[in-house]
Amino acid sequence: MDRVDVTIIGGGPVGLFASFYAGLRGMSVRIIDSLPELGGQLAALYPEKYVFDVAGFPKVLAKDLAANLIEQGTQFNPDVVLEDTATELVKDAEGYTIKTARGLELPTRTVIISAGAGAFQPTKIGVAREDEFHHKGVHYGVKDKSVFAGKKIAIVGGGDSAFDWVMNLHDVAESITLIHRRDGFRAHEDSIEKVKALGTPMKLFWVVKEMHGDDVLTAITIENVQTKEVEHMPVDSVCVNIGFKSSLGPIKDWGLELEKIQIKVDRQFQTNLPGVFAVGDVCTYPEKLKLIATGFSEAVTAVCFVKTHLDPSAKLFPGHSSEGSAMEAASSATH
Ligand SMILES: Cc1cc2nc3c(=O)[nH]c(=O)nc-3n(C[C@H](O)[C@H](O)[C@H](O)COP(=O)(O)OP(=O)(O)OC[C@H]3O[C@@H](n4cnc5c(N)ncnc54)[C@H](O)[C@@H]3O)c2cc1C
Repeated sequence: MDRVDVTIIGGGPVGLFASFYAGLRGMSVRIIDSLPELGGQLAALYPEKYVFDVAGFPKVLAKDLAANLIEQGTQFNPDVVLEDTATELVKDAEGYTIKTARGLELPTRTVIISAGAGAFQPTKIGVAREDEFHHKGVHYGVKDKSVFAGKKIAIVGGGDSAFDWVMNLHDVAESITLIHRRDGFRAHEDSIEKVKALGTPMKLFWVVKEMHGDDVLTAITIENVQTKEVEHMPVDSVCVNIGFKSSLGPIKDWGLELEKIQIKVDRQFQTNLPGVFAVGDVCTYPEKLKLIATGFSEAVTAVCFVKTHLDPSAKLFPGHSSEGSAMEAASSATH
């Protein structure tokens, strides 16, 4: 892996805006996120809720805001590492090497930690053989729709993500069954109506009890929680959408100065480790507000100080993006 100028740990709204801004300032960028998709809390926790307090948007659905941030944050072609968690930060001669849960070693000159409340890990169903079939039929969220093409899918969950994936995979899957432990849904009413209109079979009051297959998943056993009736269901894939747990986890052991579970930063968003910055919900300073709007501003300031950290002759003030030259120069520098 190439050494990049800055590695952004956490691809939530603040990390994505930092990625855009670092690209604008001509830096090479890598983003790491433990989830299969970018967007952080916007995508994972409340995709169907409206956000009213992001400047320039009187009202925007969280998933649409995430989509726009992803488009903006990836336009300078950052290296994006998904479904992997940064577990170790090791100082080296040119900066740091970040080690990940999947065994990658990612060299970087500087680091911006935008880890929110910590690495999101999908909640598992908790049945035997679930880990064995991960990526061999069991999926937590959807990174690549083509994985589900022509497949018999069971989608587990009753929230926005489950309903979103029923709608999004409807055209590519051979069949979809929604499995949910209750008959009440947390999903947006509009999504529920749309899924009902698609005629998607729903197994309500059912849970997955067993997973079967040799090398790959081929079937599940489901149980009705009220009647205890058991059914064998042949499936190629189970797409699990029953929430997330987050934990700052290994970041706590990186030698960063912490206040509770937030990383202390100065007015340049530098932590106590040289070349390591922190922004967004994960950072703290006097009068910190945990909002997307304030996180965006923190990202801009941090990126500009990363720039002068890497190149002390660079100007702190980036110029205006509307003046053309900044966008064009950054764009040509990355291609
Ligand atoms: C229901 C709800 C509604 C909200 N509504 C609003 C609102 O209307 N307006 C508003 O301003 N704010 C709102 N917020 C708060 C807002 O979502 C957060 O302030 C914002 O998401 C913080 O962005 P972030 O990029 O700092 O972190 P996050 O969005 O939390 O993203 C952090 C990302 O970092 C990843 N990560 C963490 N650690 C690691 C690691 N070690 N390795 C790899 N990846 C890692 C996580 O998986 C995650 O994807 C709301 C929050 C909730 C829960």
